[in-house]
Amino acid sequence: MSKNLTKREEDYSKWYNELVVKADLAENSGVRGCMVIKPYGYAIWEKMQAELDRMFKETGHSNAYFPLFVPKSMFEAEEKNAEGFAKECAIVTHYRLKNDETRPGKLIVDPNAKLEEELIVRPTSEAIIWSTYKGWVQSYRDLPLLINQWANVVRWEMRTRLFLRTAEFLWQEGHTAHATKAEAIEESEKMMNVYADFAENFMAIPVIKGLKTETERFAGAEETYCIEALMQDGKALQAGTSHFLGQNFAKAFDVKYANQEGKQEYVWGTSWGVSTRLMGALVMTHSDDNGLVLPPNLAPIQVVIVPIFKTDDEFEKISEVVNGLMAQFKKLNISIRYDNRTTQKPGFKFAEWELKGVPVRIAVGPKDLENGTFEVARRDTLTKEVVSKEEIVTYVSDLLDTIQKDLFQKAIDYRTAHITEVNSFEEFKDVLENKGGFISAHWDGTPETEEKIKYLTKATIRCIPLDRVEEDGKCIFSGAKSTGRVLFAKAY
Ligand code: AMP
Repeated sequence: MSKNLTKREEDYSKWYNELVVKADLAENSGVRGCMVIKPYGYAIWEKMQAELDRMFKETGHSNAYFPLFVPKSMFEAEEKNAEGFAKECAIVTHYRLKNDETRPGKLIVDPNAKLEEELIVRPTSEAIIWSTYKGWVQSYRDLPLLINQWANVVRWEMRTRLFLRTAEFLWQEGHTAHATKAEAIEESEKMMNVYADFAENFMAIPVIKGLKTETERFAGAEETYCIEALMQDGKALQAGTSHFLGQNFAKAFDVKYANQEGKQEYVWGTSWGVSTRLMGALVMTHSDDNGLVLPPNLAPIQVVIVPIFKTDDEFEKISEVVNGLMAQFKKLNISIRYDNRTTQKPGFKFAEWELKGVPVRIAVGPKDLENGTFEVARRDTLTKEVVSKEEIVTYVSDLLDTIQKDLFQKAIDYRTAHITEVNSFEEFKDVLENKGGFISAHWDGTPETEEKIKYLTKATIRCIPLDRVEEDGKCIFSGAKSTGRVLFAKAY
């Protein structure tokens, strides 16, 4: 196991790319911009999915599945949405290949197999779903529709990075329809809160809840709610979005319902999604120069036991003790692995599990057998304790909770130290250059100023925090009046 990770200080971006590959989460594929998610990475994604799925169902949603392809005319129906995604669409134009007469063994697109209408590979599914909802909604009794889909989508991104931005990515997309505006707004806010709860309590990633500015808003939405996280290099990451769609899609697809008085009304919509980008957020929030650091809630293996032995006899005795211990952990639903490979030395195993971020490692050697003890090591702090066999199960079980909490606290402390209030553009540039993180500053509310600041500094408005206090001030760029601060940052 060669670790030799680049240090975060040296080159954060390189550290990330190496870590994702070396920890066996994912790798680049032979397909431009598309990644292969490896079993260890996929196991973490499955844990995220399982918890989110539970939360969606608890809030009344059901899963369904809609087609991968969207006919171009259907895609065009909601103009803003279509325009917003137009530049990153993959389009199917033909349905057949044929032998190339001039190059034996090669294939060409059959010009006679041109589709009558092009198909867009979904970059998001509002169009296909709202065209379906038209048939599902007649009266107020059919509402609300609370549907989620687990799927892949394709956005032809020009600059891709494993998990953070890929051309094809996995996600879930919720699409709901409601009788009233108030209900739809409530739903968008509710799902933003579900995401925030998930990020904080499950992934141990603190997030800021806010509204996107008009420029950063989802194409076709009236309002975009988001959760924004801060990575260890001081850059922000949009971790999830929830859109209030108004009646835009209902109007585009003619989705109406008869209200209680029998009057026809357009329905109100929302959509919300999180993607495999969350894997990137996980890595960039907690991991260190030794490898991954996984919060226990998301770790496919929460505890690993490594035997330390010289003789077969020692190995047998240790294995006997370990098997008894494993049974006790399993009863508590703690996922545990006994690394009894005889092909690798303990040092190699330690390094491998450290790289893979297993939260707790237990080592047992002949001395421990004699003393009735185990050596317990924490991945997050790299500290070790000797624990007696009577206490080990409770100790480790409590330790997993502690690690989950400590990781969250550490991330909060980092974020708190990296939110800086500034009152001039000079200060703004200085903080951005030398410290990074979120910059809380007054903005005049215009897209022009936002654009100029972005052009000059690469920083964007991450969000208008929901909990911001009204405060009279002057825009750091234009000097015009402002009623509150927004959060700027460079972002992934
Ligand atoms: P959107 O539909 O644009 O609001 O995006 C929904 C979710 O997918 C958000 O959490 C985005 O951060 C995430 N996302 C958008 N584009 C990509 C991409 N190319 N790769 C991975 N995740 C993405």
